[in-house]
Amino acid sequence: MTITKATLDAFIDDHLNEQDSIRVEKAVRESQELNTLLKSIIASRDMGDHSIGAIWRREHLSCPTREELSSYKEEALDPQRIDYIKFHLETVGCKACKANLSDLICTKNSLTNPDANEKHQQFLENSKILLPKKV
Ligand SMILES: [Zn+2]
Repeated sequence: MTITKATLDAFIDDHLNEQDSIRVEKAVRESQELNTLLKSIIASRDMGDHSIGAIWRREHLSCPTREELSSYKEEALDPQRIDYIKFHLETVGCKACKANLSDLICTKNSLTNPDANEKHQQFLENSKILLPKKV
């Protein structure tokens, strides 16, 4: 694994998978050069890094939307987009998107869960009285 500035950026942003994070952490501890580079990145961020790359990462601009993640889950996207999202989730290991996806899966499970479904129906029934009557 070659550790570049981009790798260190991903490390700081917590965008690496667990194994890579451990590798980077170990390498930084063992290499004075990487240690200095990491410190300089953190220092430049503290000064307010307004480079396109920094804004891109900070604002999660490479992240798929929640709707896309939902379609990804249903495999209702074109294969290229599915590949990209898979890469984003599994290789980049974006924690924000992983959390979003697992939330989508939970939400779906609760809708197919009979108890939750019954509550949902009850809620709909009860809210009917609040709706204006059809003439
Ligand atoms: Zn993401």
